[in-house]
Amino acid sequence: MEKATIFAAAQPEFDTFPRLIDALGLKIEKDMAVAIKVDFLQPCPAIVQPLFLALAQRGASPFLTDCSVPFGDALQSLNAAAMNGYVSGAPCVLADGVKGTDYDLIPVRGGKRLRSAKFGRAVMDADLLITVTRPAYGERGYRGVLYDLGLGCAARAGKTEVQTSGKPVVDQELCIGCGKCSAVCEHGGARLDPETRKASIFPPKCSGCSRCMRACPVNAIHPDFDVSDETVLERLAEYAKALCDAKMHAHIVLLDQAYASCDPAALDTLCAQKMELPEALQAAAKHALALGFGSEESEIVSI
Ligand code: SF4
Ligand code: SF4
Repeated sequence: MEKATIFAAAQPEFDTFPRLIDALGLKIEKDMAVAIKVDFLQPCPAIVQPLFLALAQRGASPFLTDCSVPFGDALQSLNAAAMNGYVSGAPCVLADGVKGTDYDLIPVRGGKRLRSAKFGRAVMDADLLITVTRPAYGERGYRGVLYDLGLGCAARAGKTEVQTSGKPVVDQELCIGCGKCSAVCEHGGARLDPETRKASIFPPKCSGCSRCMRACPVNAIHPDFDVSDETVLERLAEYAKALCDAKMHAHIVLLDQAYASCDPAALDTLCAQKMELPEALQAAAKHALALGFGSEESEIVSI
């Protein structure tokens, strides 16, 4: 496997981005739709605006995008974007729509855990995807480039598929038998027993869209998180690979410097070294490498 090239910019300022775009070999064409994947729930990194302007000045049509939060109101993400400074002249698009249900289904080639993946439509409509990641390690685990690709770009149903058993479950003790879940379910997955007046989920019919969870007035329906961390990270890597197989892509990581590469696994490996991540949290990068997705070794070129 060839070494990946990671470009490093010590001072990521305005004129850095045309050089980064050239160094990565990205061919920016007129009217090309470029999705800049950010995290609407976090403050807007200072580099986003100069990156946006650098792409716009080359004639592309860039937009900032993220998918909705997995189990809440989808518009909450757009509200968060406004609060977090993502409104400086750049269009912000909720990639999986205002209900989190707008996605493209694409194949996971060579996947061991999954056969298909569900990504926000706006991400799939873009000609080029650029992720901007501020890696973090905390209560929610490690959030790096593969995370931003595999989970951040996944539509709500995709996030559910990666993080949970894929289907919700009903807490029978909380259920009051109102029938709202079965009324909103378009697939016949949520069913109300007419005798017991208790709802249940019929997994073969359930698509994992989570509409029933939002409809339940007493929060009796919840995701089934009975999945190991390793499984989640391996699914996440397969999602990330599927997206990169389908899209022209490039990635920027903000650490001590701005690092850019077309190899997300190599960037996550670099982050793991610099952040001294525990072995268990590197499962996504290791699984990606096992699938032949990316390089473990890299060389850093300063620009
Ligand atoms: S998650 Fe969606 S498909 Fe599954 S039972 Fe609930 S509403 Fe129906
Ligand atoms: S919406 Fe909630 S309370 Fe109503 S039937 Fe379904 S699970 Fe039970």
